Formats: sequence, structure tokens, C-alpha cells
Amino acid sequence: MVECFDVIIIGGGITGLGTARDCAMRGLRVLLIERFDIATGATGSNHGLLHSGARYAVTDPASAKECIEENRILRRIAKHCIEDTGGLFLTLPEDGLDFQKKFVEACGVAGIPVEVLSRKEALRREHSANPAMLSAVEVPDSAIDPFRLSAANMIDAKELGATILTYNEVTNIIREQTRVVGVEVFSHKTKSSCRYYAPVVVNAVGIWGQKIAAMAGVSVTMQPNKGAMLVYGSRPNRMVLNRCRKPGNADILVPSENISLIGTTSTNISFDCIDKLGVTADEVKTLISEGEKLAPVLANTRILRAYAGVRPLVVDGMDNDGRGISRGIALFDHAERDGLDGYITITGGKMMTYRLMAEWTTDLICRKLGVCGVCRTAEVALPGSRDDVDMAGKKMFAFSSVLRKSLIRRYGGRAFSIFNFMSSIWKGRKRVAVQKAEAYSLLCECENVTAGEVLYAQKELNISTLMDLRRRTRVGMGQCQGEICICRAAGLLGCRRDEVVSFLQERWKGVAPIAFGDALAESEYTSWVYKGLCGFEQ
Ligand SMILES: Cc1cc2nc3c(=O)[nH]c(=O)nc-3n(C[C@H](O)[C@H](O)[C@H](O)COP(=O)(O)OP(=O)(O)OC[C@H]3O[C@@H](n4cnc5c(N)ncnc54)[C@H](O)[C@@H]3O)c2cc1C
Repeated sequence: MVECFDVIIIGGGITGLGTARDCAMRGLRVLLIERFDIATGATGSNHGLLHSGARYAVTDPASAKECIEENRILRRIAKHCIEDTGGLFLTLPEDGLDFQKKFVEACGVAGIPVEVLSRKEALRREHSANPAMLSAVEVPDSAIDPFRLSAANMIDAKELGATILTYNEVTNIIREQTRVVGVEVFSHKTKSSCRYYAPVVVNAVGIWGQKIAAMAGVSVTMQPNKGAMLVYGSRPNRMVLNRCRKPGNADILVPSENISLIGTTSTNISFDCIDKLGVTADEVKTLISEGEKLAPVLANTRILRAYAGVRPLVVDGMDNDGRGISRGIALFDHAERDGLDGYITITGGKMMTYRLMAEWTTDLICRKLGVCGVCRTAEVALPGSRDDVDMAGKKMFAFSSVLRKSLIRRYGGRAFSIFNFMSSIWKGRKRVAVQKAEAYSLLCECENVTAGEVLYAQKELNISTLMDLRRRTRVGMGQCQGEICICRAAGLLGCRRDEVVSFLQERWKGVAPIAFGDALAESEYTSWVYKGLCGFEQ
């Protein structure tokens, strides 16, 4: 039987997932197609900052206003994905106080609440901040977890009837005269191709948007802009730290879970490089030296890994240094723009403006389909953020408080249903006490993930590989970078040896650029463990 869809969305980053959710909420039959796992593009390699908009207030006031409005909405609808850290913009002696004055005025115009702090007060609120600062401004910046946000949008879209196809790559756009009618897809799982049809197809593939537009014979000009970041193995700062100056390299330090992230750089790259990103020695040097200016304690903090992502910037004739090209939202109705019906491109923007991007796109889809759906994504919270977290915590009395807290951090108010799943998993096989002990046993000590949670992810959260498991549960993201837990997870999920090898290779990619000092010692140790105990020779 041929399945019928109203809309096909290409791309399982936050833009595609948010659009899938919005469309499903408005009653449309949705198919989302992603070539790998969800959040494997820019969404899974960004800085995790819930911007207050202050960073853009002086240089891009429209983006600043969008950010603060979406910041307020996301705090309501995605509260389990956000840690309300607050943020400081530090003025260092080399920055001077002139910019701070313009900054405070521009934030006022954009509607961003700010508080100017003396050096002493700023240090009282954030001990790790550079004591050489002249003064600081507090803004409502926060940390947001991209993987959790993506998963919550996917879960809701699925529960509302959307079909999410991961590991399926769009290889062609099917046109009939002046109309797009469907897509050709290659499945990386079955190694076969097939076609899907719908009256509207949405190109939501971020920086790959130029290529997917060209498949339909239209042109969207983009500039890939690479940003590199470093992950520190502990969390010296409680608040987000920014430099109060025109945006530049390595001027944001975001605390997230048990780590802190310094970033980013900004380098225009060619399209040939977007699928093979690496972090260079120069980028590492810049990140380390600039990061220490924000928080000197970073000089003595272990670096865990380096990674990079590509910003989906749309060229609009402005200057070309990457930071100058607009980070605003680009929504193209190719019927109006190019005379091609049934085709839409949505790109640009930021992770934190994804909901707005999805709203505009879904409004356009509805107009094309002649459906009158009203957007409710600003009011209806995501799964995990609409259920009562305190109640969930009280019901999980059989768990230690550490496990309870970490489950709630990852799943918000849905934690109790996951706990229930864990408790029932082994039923019918063994005595209840033994079942529970197994389900509750720790698999990843760095991130407090239990064996039961891993099995839950396997059953409910669309995972195909150990890397997907990492994105859903944080297994392998902690201090040991999967050294011990990944073997356990592989055993539990019945993964093959080559899957463990490819997980370790992927982790090594992030360690290689910072393989000196502690990181080098740890990776040597990991290599002995896998060669000596597991017999892995490569
Ligand atoms: C270094 C860096 C730091 C950033 N920091 C922040 C931040 O702190 N806060 C913030 O709000 N924003 C930040 N951003 C911006 C943010 O990450 C992006 O704007 C956002 O994630 C874009 O999401 P997307 O879904 O449009 O694209 P992506 O996340 O790139 O998703 C596109 C998806 O399309 C898939 N795809 C590609 N080709 C095909 C195909 N042929 N078939 C099927 N699927 C395909 C890809 O695999 C990918 O998963 C940052 C970006 C970068 C690069």
C-alpha cells in the first residue's frame, strides 16, 4: 500500500523536526527524511546557547529582537531542555567601556533586560570571571541542550502521527513540469532506493540546502561558515560568560551539564569540506588563549575534546567574513521566486529561532494546501516540559536521588514513565528484585545512565547506532568519553564489534586535535584497554 503524505520535510535538524511537529499539530500527514540520525548537522555541533539576543543587539538588532522573543517562549515550552544559568558580558581592559554603553542602549531598544554590575558584584555572582574586568552586564542568556530539544520535537511529532525516517538520504527531487511532486530516497539501512510523493516538499537541510535546491533546478546561494569549539571536562563557570565587544573569536563560555564549552571561531570554507570537518591546531590555540581571558581558571582545566559545525548562512550581498552575513531566517517560496510549485526552502536562522522558522514554514505549507491551521507551538509545551517534574520525582522512590535527578534532567516530567518502563522491562523473565536490580544498574557512571534507560532509548527513541544512543542519553559524553560504558552498552544492545570501533573512531576525531597533556594520557589508556582487554588491533 502506498502511504499518502501532505508534506515531505527533508532534514532532521532542529528546523526540520520543529516543522514536522508544527505540521503534525495542525493535522497534516508528515514524512520527515534524514540521511543519518537526527541532530547530526549544525544542530548537534553548536554551542548550546539560548541567546538572550544581547550578542546581536549592536550589530543585528532584528536578530536580537527575534532571540529575546523566542528565548521567552522556549523557557515556557522547552523548560526541561534549558538550564537557567543567566549570562554576563565582561568588559576587559582591552575592550574598553565605549562598546558597553552602546550595548546597553541597543539591548534596551531590542527589549532585552540588562543589569550593569560593578567588577566586585560581577565576581560575587560568577567566581570564575576574569578579575581583571572593568565591569560586566547581566543578561538572560542560558544553556539549552540541542539533543534533548531535537528529541522532544521528534517524539511529539511521532506521537501526533508523523513518520520519521532516519538513515534515508534524499538523492533527487521529482519534478513534473513546473511542480515538485516527491523525492527519491536511498536507504542506508537496506541499501535500496524508493520514491515518496506529496504535494509539498520542504528543503530544511541547513547548509546542504544549496545542493538540495539545485536538485529541483532552483538556486539558493549559501556560504558555509565553520565554527570550532572546545569541551572542558568540568564546569568552572556557573553563568554563561561573553565578551562585551563586537562578536569575535572564542568569546562565549557556556556551562552545560558537567562540562563547559568555549567557542567559537568563524571561517568561511568551501562546500567540499562540509562533510569532513576537522579542528586545526590554530583554532585550538585561539580557543584556549581567548577562553582563558574570560575565565583564567580554564588554564588548569582539562580539555575533553574539540568539535566543529557549519553555520547555514544565506548570502545576501553583505560582506563575506562569515560574521557579516546575516544570521537571519531565509524562507523561500519557490513558486513565487522561481515559478516552481510545491517546493519551499527554509534555512539560516539559529537553533533558538527554530520554532519561529517552523511556524513561518508551516503557515506557508498550509496556505499551499488550502488548510487553515493555527500555530500553537508557542503555547503547547514539548513532551517532558508539560508534565509535573516534582510529581515525577516523588514517584520514583526506588531510585537514589542522583539517578532520579539525572533522569529528570534528561526527560523532564516524562522521567516517571521511563522509570516505569525500566521497572517492567525484565518482567516474566526473572524474579522482580533481580529484574529491578538489573534495570537500575549503572551503565555510564560519568552521566548516571542506567541499563534500563539504554533499553528504553533502543525501544522508543529511534536509535540505530551507539552514536545515536550517545545523542539521546549522553552515554559516552562524559569525562571518560565512552572508555568503559560503550562496551557495556554494546553488550546490552547486541552491537557488533565494528560498531564499537566506529564509535571509538568518532570519539578519537574529537580528541586528536587536543591530544596533549591529560587528554593524550587518557587516550593512550583507552587504547591499551581496547587493545589489551578487548583485542582490538586497529
Ligand atoms: C559553531 C556553531 C555554533 C552555533 N551556536 C549556536 C548557539 O549557541 N545557539 C543557537 O541558537 N544556534 C547556534 N548555532 C546555529 C544552529 O546550530 C543552526 O542554525 C541550526 O542548528 C540549524 O539547524 P537546521 O536544522 O537548519 O540544520 P542542520 O542541523 O544542519 O540539519 C540539517 C540536516 O539535514 C540533513 N541532510 C543533509 N542532506 C540531506 C539529504 N540529502 N537527505 C536527507 N537529509 C539530509 C543533515 O544530515 C542534517 O541532519 C550554531 C551553529 C554553529 C555552526
